[in-house]
Order: sequence, then C-alpha cells, then structure tokens
Amino acid sequence: IMSQRIRVIAGNWKMNTVLDEAVELVNGLRYELDEIDTVEKIICPPFISLAKIKELLQGTSIRLGAQDLFYEDKGAYTGEISGSMLSDLCQYVIVGHSERRAYFNEVDEIVNRKMKAALRHGLKPIMCVGENLKQNESGTSESVISEQLRVGLSGLTSSNLMVAYEPVWAIGTGKAATGTYAQKMMAFIRRQIAEIFTETAANELPILYGGSVNPENILEMLAEPDIDGALVGGASLKPGLFLSIVRQA
Ligand code: PGA
Repeated sequence: IMSQRIRVIAGNWKMNTVLDEAVELVNGLRYELDEIDTVEKIICPPFISLAKIKELLQGTSIRLGAQDLFYEDKGAYTGEISGSMLSDLCQYVIVGHSERRAYFNEVDEIVNRKMKAALRHGLKPIMCVGENLKQNESGTSESVISEQLRVGLSGLTSSNLMVAYEPVWAIGTGKAATGTYAQKMMAFIRRQIAEIFTETAANELPILYGGSVNPENILEMLAEPDIDGALVGGASLKPGLFLSIVRQA
C-alpha cells in the first residue's frame, strides 16, 4: 500500500548566511520551489533572517522553520529565542539536532521541554534523533534512538510533529547511510512512535532521513516505505542542488 504521508524536504542552513546572503539564496530558489506542489518544502535559515525571509515567501507555498528554540516563553534568558517569538515568524522548528546535543549539551530532557514549548506555541517540531559512530559500531543504535524518542516525546499532548533520523556519522561527511540501513532504522522509529502515541499517529507521522543527502542519493532514500523525505544540510545552501532534491521527491 502506498503511504498517504506527504513528502517533505526541509533545508537546514545551520550557521550559514549573513542577511544579504540569505536573501540572495531565497531569491535564487523561491519561484522554482513554489511551483513544485507535490512536496512540503521547508527552509530553516538562521533566526536573524526569519523576518525578512518571511516577507519574501509571502504568498508562496514554501514554509519557514527555525533551527532551535528555548523552552521558556520569556524572561531573563539572555540570548535565547522563545517559541512565542517564533510563532508569528515561522511554522516549523528543528529540535534536538545532533549538533546542539553535541556542542550545547542538549540532553533528552531539554529536547523534551523544547518539544513541549514548540507545540504550545503552534510550531510543528522536527525532532532529530540518531546514533553516533561509536554507538553504531558498538551495536547500540536502536537503544540510543529508543531512549531519545521515549524521553524526547514523553508527556506530549499532540503528535503534530515530524521526526528526522540523522545518523551522526552521516552528517556533513558525504557518507550517507544506505537506503536499506536508513529504512531499517526508520521502520524501528515508526514502531516506537506507535508505542509512544498510537498506530494511527505512527502511520501519519512523517519521518525524514538526514545526513549527506544530495541529488544523487535522494531517490534511493525515497524508494523506501518509511522514508517520507529528507532534512538537508550542506546541499540546501546551493539552490541548484536543493531544487534538484525537491524536484525528485
Ligand atoms: P548534511 O546535514 O546534509 O550536511 O549532512 C544534515 C543535517 O545535519 O541536518
């Protein structure tokens, strides 16, 4: 049976582009991207460019996302950005990216609070999970991911979210997982989601693959039944590559 789930391609720009570069990148993408209507297209630029890009995307089918949020709504949290600040700027937010887990000590409990904050403010979170190389080599990938899901998704009142499976060893390395391996892990993730929420929620929830996605490997990924799309890092900064990925999706 064909999945009824929508295809999703999200671009994670990470800490790249000053405002002018962000505008240029969007201008190089928006007309062609807008015309592709069989895919949910999301771009996640740095916070400082969201307001300007929101204007540029007005009236298009391209959605905006942030790369992170803080779990409190306002107050004395110098330097942080809350869900309430983001909710009128964008529709999506990446939560628990492996780079935040690695460089900013974001443990699963923090990810969970951020998930709750996103949902509380009507943002659709894209929660990232995935094992690192050591965990992969020691055969603990499934238990690592299961824990990330169990804690990250605990106590949520809504399953209006997406999950991105991003094996850390595949991120920015040019060494994507094989479609077969990603499918195995993502089918496992969907079974976990069914246990945490419901079978229906698991069937409806988009799960994206992330890690060195490019125009050459996107079809191998999307041919797999549990892979609904991709979270694209490096290739999302090149309009030609990003468009090619979205066109094939
Ligand atoms: P990459 O990054 O496509 O550059 O590997 C993916 C991600 O970290 O979301």
